Amino acid sequence: MCGIVGYVGPQDAPPILLEGLGRLEYRGYDSAGLAVSGKGGLKVRKVSGRVAELAADLPARFKGSPGIGHTRWATHGEPNEANAHPQLDAAGRIAVVHNGIIENADELRAKLTADGVEFASQTDTEVVAHLVAAAFAAGAADLEQAVRQALRQVVGAYGLAILDAEHPDRIVVARNGSPVLLGVGEKEMFVASDVAALIGYTRQVVYLDDGELATITANGYRTYTLDDRSIAKSPSTIDWDVVGAEIGDHAHYLIKEIQEQPRTIERALKGRIDERFETAHLGGLNMTVREAREYRRVKILGCGSACYAGELGAQLIEDLARVPATAEAASEFRYRNPVVEPDTLYVAVSQSGETIDTLAAVQELQRKGGRVIGIVNVVGSTIARQVEGGIYLHAGPEMSVAATKSFTSTVTAFALLALHLGRIRDLSPDQGRRIIAGLNALPGHVARILEQSDAIAEVAREIAKSSSVLFVGRRRGWPVAREGAQKLKEISYVHAEAYPSAELKHGPLALVNPDLPTVAIVPDDDLLDKNTSTLSEIKARKGPVIAIAHRELPADLADRTLVVPKGEPELDPILLSVPLQLLAYHAAVALDRDVDKPRNLAKSVTVE
Ligand code: GLU
Repeated sequence: MCGIVGYVGPQDAPPILLEGLGRLEYRGYDSAGLAVSGKGGLKVRKVSGRVAELAADLPARFKGSPGIGHTRWATHGEPNEANAHPQLDAAGRIAVVHNGIIENADELRAKLTADGVEFASQTDTEVVAHLVAAAFAAGAADLEQAVRQALRQVVGAYGLAILDAEHPDRIVVARNGSPVLLGVGEKEMFVASDVAALIGYTRQVVYLDDGELATITANGYRTYTLDDRSIAKSPSTIDWDVVGAEIGDHAHYLIKEIQEQPRTIERALKGRIDERFETAHLGGLNMTVREAREYRRVKILGCGSACYAGELGAQLIEDLARVPATAEAASEFRYRNPVVEPDTLYVAVSQSGETIDTLAAVQELQRKGGRVIGIVNVVGSTIARQVEGGIYLHAGPEMSVAATKSFTSTVTAFALLALHLGRIRDLSPDQGRRIIAGLNALPGHVARILEQSDAIAEVAREIAKSSSVLFVGRRRGWPVAREGAQKLKEISYVHAEAYPSAELKHGPLALVNPDLPTVAIVPDDDLLDKNTSTLSEIKARKGPVIAIAHRELPADLADRTLVVPKGEPELDPILLSVPLQLLAYHAAVALDRDVDKPRNLAKSVTVE
């Protein structure tokens, strides 16, 4: 959600800012803008639209450095040009870009208005520009002091980058609850809200923590707190390769990321399988075997697809380790004054590592003494740094809003965790070996499913004609059904609802008719008979059925079967979910949707 980019150095800032904003587009936004310090003061350009429109709109003389850029995801005031960032003070001296929400904006606005300030936008952000100007008017000696004075009055979440026409050698940035990182170059510095913006410029980054500010100039950076205590921070190196973030000759990031899964699953497994002891080796957990044995419960927290992956994770942990495990939406958990127990292991799941609800749940848990580990993709992200240990997915940048490779990698990571917890309890070496063989077979099996893309596209074109689709599954098939319905909804906008198969009779069967297709997850396991009776019930009511199964089902049970290779039953959900990704993708393409950037959604949900 929303993005910040900044540059200070000898180069012209706008092309660098535009490129960075382009790389943040995947996060979702509704308007964009730039400000640069040039001869004669600040130059500002904003559009209520895409970064490409902003680029097209820039006059040739729009040059200078330093500069800041923003993609906005409106929270206060509609997405129009006036509300786009940068927001300025009355004199046009201070420019501010902001991610997050200033909670006491109304109060500050009333105070500033009483002092005679006129507001040009409806945003909460604008108060920051006026507060900085007011701090100068009250005698602040430099930009740093003015920003510190301003921020002491501000309550809320922010990532901020601030430019001052009178200090044209620097950008001051601040972080509280919304990510900000610095990029260190050769005689130049960058700032961004997401490492993706820096790809191609530098791999050396400095992460700010909440409550910290930084000043960047061409020659370096200084980090400090609101009461001006200096904090020494040294850069770390990002390990993503540039290729990972390029779309190449794919039509969309989404299909690229779906097709990457054989490799991303392989990367999630790499170096983590211990063939000798038939277990998983997870050094990042930072947990001794003795500690790991003490846990009597596992609680998994995530939002959206991360939560569904967590539901599969919970089943894997119960199956392999026989430790009671449950998953819950982090967004609900955090608000219900949860009971936090010392013998429960808490697992926070977030692709971006910035999901605000999951982060808040982690903080609530830690405040109550809970031990939290993370399953996260983005290295160095806020959740990754907040937890005591965890498992990185190493799936490379996921640019499309809909989770695909991060979903299968998360479930793979859970399988490793379950194997580890199992093998230090009662899972036998034989069973360990069986799971390891199943894990190693996953990439090849996924590759075979991907070969069916064209056949799945045909089914998807039919699905795309429906106004609603039912997804059903049982036990491990149930989270798969939920994730399948979620995928279809979010990228094709076709209404979809997921139900546990056995619950059909308790309500939704009333909906079944020839116009409501059902996608059913029907693995070839001990529940096959139960699942086929569900299909008979649907067919008896003339509901069309698309089955995801291990072998072709007879015509009286399913109109179409999408056959997936059969692996180990505990791991099969990973395979069963892949055709559903392709189904949603091809339906979205058939309906001409904005596949990578579905309406109203953002990739990393950093506001509540
Ligand atoms: N709350 C600010 C606004 O509505 C910033 C939103 C964002 O994070 O992009 O303008």
